[in-house]
Amino acid sequence: MSKQLYEVGEQPPLGEVPEKMHAWLVRADRFGKPTEAFQKEVVATPSIADDEVLVYVMAAGINYNNVWAAMGIPVNVIAARNKNGEPEDFHIGGSDASGIVYKIGKDVTNVKVGDEVVMHCGTFDRNCAWVKKGGDPMYSPSFKIWGYETNYGSFAQFTRVQGHQCMPKPKHMSWEESAAYALVAATAWRMLHGWESSSVKKGDVALIWGGAGGLGSMAIQIVKAVGATSVAIVSGEDKFDYCMKLGAKGCINRNDFDHWGMLPHWKDNAGYAKWLKGVRGFGAKIWEVLGEKRAPNIIFEHPGETTIPTSIFVCETGGMVVVCAGTTGYNATVDLRYLWMRQKRLQGSHFANTVQCNEMNQLALSGQLDPCMSRAFTYEELPVAHQLMADNKHPHGNMSVLIGAPGFGLGASGKPAVTTVHPTLPKGDVHTTPHPYPMSEPLPSIEPAEALTIADDGTKVRDLMHRGIISCTPDDTVGAVAKIMVDKEIHAVVVMEQGKATGVVSQTDMVLARQGRTPDQARSMKASEIMTPGCATCDAEMLLSDAVSLMTGRRMHRLVVTEKDQPVGVISMTDVVRKIIG
Ligand code: NAP
Repeated sequence: MSKQLYEVGEQPPLGEVPEKMHAWLVRADRFGKPTEAFQKEVVATPSIADDEVLVYVMAAGINYNNVWAAMGIPVNVIAARNKNGEPEDFHIGGSDASGIVYKIGKDVTNVKVGDEVVMHCGTFDRNCAWVKKGGDPMYSPSFKIWGYETNYGSFAQFTRVQGHQCMPKPKHMSWEESAAYALVAATAWRMLHGWESSSVKKGDVALIWGGAGGLGSMAIQIVKAVGATSVAIVSGEDKFDYCMKLGAKGCINRNDFDHWGMLPHWKDNAGYAKWLKGVRGFGAKIWEVLGEKRAPNIIFEHPGETTIPTSIFVCETGGMVVVCAGTTGYNATVDLRYLWMRQKRLQGSHFANTVQCNEMNQLALSGQLDPCMSRAFTYEELPVAHQLMADNKHPHGNMSVLIGAPGFGLGASGKPAVTTVHPTLPKGDVHTTPHPYPMSEPLPSIEPAEALTIADDGTKVRDLMHRGIISCTPDDTVGAVAKIMVDKEIHAVVVMEQGKATGVVSQTDMVLARQGRTPDQARSMKASEIMTPGCATCDAEMLLSDAVSLMTGRRMHRLVVTEKDQPVGVISMTDVVRKIIG
């Protein structure tokens, strides 16, 4: 061994693994801004297991995940690993890379020392019972994203990966270009090719959200490669040319429409009609771009909360909305009538398995997949690149950072089988939308977990409730119920039938009844026609915090309070607000 440690950019002789390596580390005591959280340190080069490979990293791809890892939210990735028995008190991130194989474990057969590779980020335990019996590793409880959920990612001179993560590097790409695409392209590949009969095929039409983004730019090219047509959605006309050069038939500027967000209540005639007008206009724009009255049979989704209602609506009967993220929020609303009557599929998708990663990589090797690298940074700039991302000041497309490569534009040799146009993003392009949430985070399961500590002052519903029930009958008119509300200065009236509470007419129900009707039409309706059926109740002895969860979970503002199963009063959000503000 000639040296214990090599300088960054000084490549050790092939196959020689120094004891120590330079790396960008995140530690728990400096979680926060990426420019502070990432610090250069020298650590021991990791050892490898029989199924693992040590790769000398030439360049690394940059993804949001390591912005979150640097901040320590929503998960402290170091503590999570320590809990699982891993001793390291630091995190080396990086979930995309290109490099050269320096050492292989004895069970690795797909690569040898000296191979130039790119790496996908899906890891799993090969001894997992599910995987052993041939199950898709993406469903294995042991599945983890390398360089986010696992340590020793690509932000170091050497990275530790499982053998199957290594794929041939496209010879025509530079080190930094080849480090940029695998994570997003493989995710897009599974979304478009992983769902049996719903997968994209020649002649299909796909709608691609965020066509100029990391995932969207890959999706357009994958759709094109199969002989299908795509329509890309972007937030400005300056990005049309970029998406069309990648292969989109046409583009839509989402800022020309304003029907985004959660669905209006289905009882809200006026709101729903307005939403319908907006979404129909959007659908008509798709027809215009396509030049025919055809609905997309695949919708490539990731914005989530604000776009899912539209995606479900415009999707062809029997088609699929496939979603891998909720960038704008997780509570997607679906008008179920469209889902069941038109038998559409809402399919969740997460990263990709090794087979799918390699299928995707064939496209890159052949030259049909441009990595869409928008910016590359030097080793020293790694924290700055993450900070730009954290501040949402980074360009669209995929970004990389040099690790072992001594300069930009190195590593390319040869020409691809297919030559495509290399599109460039509009000058000065930066993100204008909020950060996505992490692509991967531990979700609660049925398994018992650590009890959460909840602070509760012990207030009971009986301490705040209003005693007495103000009620109407199902046959009372809305006009009569409105008068009760006004006279008694209350926000809801309980509908009682034969001594039992069968529903509630709230102010919201009243307002919804008036939507799309004249005042006279609304007034003459019956309480039973507009009430919210069933009566959400809580016992007077219930904790106030539980009653609040009940109300927020059902999007209600009040509950009928019972004692020995008999309605005795009402508790409302107004009562809770009064208590909070003292
Ligand atoms: P990106 O490069 O930031 O692109 C996302 C695009 O979404 C943006 O360019 C933006 O384009 C569009 N967008 C933002 N807000 C929108 C809104 N309100 N309505 C419609 N479109 C909106 O991010 P990315 O790399 O493509 O990743 C997208 C999401 O997928 C992120 O949340 C990421 O974490 C997640 N992800 C998940 C996986 C997985 O395996 N589950 C893998 C990779 C990424 P315009 O402004 O031009 O419309």
